[in-house]
Amino acid sequence: MTTDPRQAALTAATTPEPWDILVIGGGASGLGTAVEAATRGYRTLLLEAHDYAKGTSSRSTKLVHGGVRYLAQGNVSLVREALHERGLLKQNAPHLVRDLGFLIAAYKWWAAPFYGIGLKMYDLLAGKLNLQASRYVNKAQALARTPTLKQAGLKGGILYFDGQFDDSRLAITLMRSLEDHGGVTLNHAPVVGLIREGGRVVGARFRDDETGQEHEVRARAVVNATGVFVDDIRRMERSDVKPMLSPSQGVHVVVDRRFLPGDSAIMVPRTDDGRVLFAVPWHDHVVIGTTDTPVPETSLEPRALPEEIDFILRTAAQYMDPAPTRADVRSVYVGLRPLVKAAEGTDTKSLSRDHVIRISDGGLITLTGGKWTTYRRMGEDTVNRAAAQAGLPERLSLTAGLKLHGATQADLPEHWKVYGTDAEWVQSLPGANQKIHQALPYTEAEVRWAARAEQARTVEDVLSRRLRALLLNAQASIEAAPRVAAILAEELGRDQAWQAGQVRAYTDVAQGYVLR
Ligand SMILES: Cc1cc2nc3c(=O)[nH]c(=O)nc-3n(C[C@H](O)[C@H](O)[C@H](O)COP(=O)(O)OP(=O)(O)OC[C@H]3O[C@@H](n4cnc5c(N)ncnc54)[C@H](O)[C@@H]3O)c2cc1C
Repeated sequence: MTTDPRQAALTAATTPEPWDILVIGGGASGLGTAVEAATRGYRTLLLEAHDYAKGTSSRSTKLVHGGVRYLAQGNVSLVREALHERGLLKQNAPHLVRDLGFLIAAYKWWAAPFYGIGLKMYDLLAGKLNLQASRYVNKAQALARTPTLKQAGLKGGILYFDGQFDDSRLAITLMRSLEDHGGVTLNHAPVVGLIREGGRVVGARFRDDETGQEHEVRARAVVNATGVFVDDIRRMERSDVKPMLSPSQGVHVVVDRRFLPGDSAIMVPRTDDGRVLFAVPWHDHVVIGTTDTPVPETSLEPRALPEEIDFILRTAAQYMDPAPTRADVRSVYVGLRPLVKAAEGTDTKSLSRDHVIRISDGGLITLTGGKWTTYRRMGEDTVNRAAAQAGLPERLSLTAGLKLHGATQADLPEHWKVYGTDAEWVQSLPGANQKIHQALPYTEAEVRWAARAEQARTVEDVLSRRLRALLLNAQASIEAAPRVAAILAEELGRDQAWQAGQVRAYTDVAQGYVLR
């Protein structure tokens, strides 16, 4: 008899024995915290409302970086910590992180020495874990690395190195690592209330979105890691609590690789509005972004403003030739930054990018802020606080040296790399040579794998976060949805009506990524 893994996880989650640590939210912060807790031997449960990385954690610029920009702001300790974490992640998930050269083009005589000095400091702050050292390049060398860089007036530039990754694949890898270390984790399981006893938060109520049934779970420590939604959970404890976040949105557009055919990214250190802009090769496409626009409210599917798209394309056109136009955009995606609130009237560009842990009077631990690169450190700090607060036995952190699920140094073909040591299992499934769409690199075997091994429950789980079809080519992903629904239906035992509903729901979401 085969056991349904979701049913098994539900049964395990609702055990009457209290969990040591319950984590609410399956993005970078929640997964980092849960892996930290489980590897220390604490009984750990994670509940995710929609899907792992459904929020901001699938919508980043895809950089594992110290943040050159924060160095310019003088935030040296933040940069040093992030560079250290960049090095650890490269060691612990070499199948997901690669070194990437970033070119800062110099069109003025002073630009190369000016940025060169800052980037030497960036190298130094990385210490032993530095990637290749930054260096000056002349015009010919700059063009060899980024052939579509605008040539008129180009003097040369600075080349520096940072890491690049696939954000939602790292989230899936962390979810698998959590399972490997005995944690229990459920997606499509929103927390709908907190359980309080004697003024203390002692657990939560969640809904299984596949059946609509509600369940209660108890825990010695409850961590709220719901990204831009942390204030919603905090309000479940106290309805009059003051919001701690001031979210802003960041937009990216994705275009074909021909707009940046070399082996390096372009980094624009100062745009017209004083931000940085990246054009980064990613999965044989190019991601260009981002913006920083304060938003009055949070949403699961934020939308780009026309002026944000114009700004990105206008800035790209100052550096790229040929420059992409609206017609070249394959996908637009928007992420919300969980920025911790400062005093009234503060500009969001200067708010803290560092993480914040806040513990309420009732013991609810809220983790927010930070960035993907520092997820491990955020998890470590949070579990230290949670263990102390809940009186759990003190145990040392192991994650600095913990190889994540599938970690391998093997030189796998680019497409299969994200699966690490699982790659050969994926390729052994039916449909390994059958693409889901001619404009997408993905195969039917990968859809089956997503359902069997990676907790994919919906067409969106597959096309957006197990595979990156939605970000690479939103229209093609809509066209692939019926086939993906049919394969998922076979894997999960669903009927025709379910398939039709899935295709409708996916099309609704994905239309928002198509630029019209
Ligand atoms: C535009 C942009 C670009 C970025 N680029 C980079 C980059 O290149 N490199 C980098 O290091 N960092 C980057 N970051 C930062 C990084 O992406 C974020 O800091 C990180 O993803 C935040 O993760 P999180 O887990 O806190 O939030 P989220 O990823 O939003 O996760 C929160 C989760 O909680 C779930 N949830 C909400 N309510 C409930 C509930 N009631 N019950 C259960 N679950 C719930 C949500 O569904 C969601 O999955 C970028 C951020 C933005 C906005």
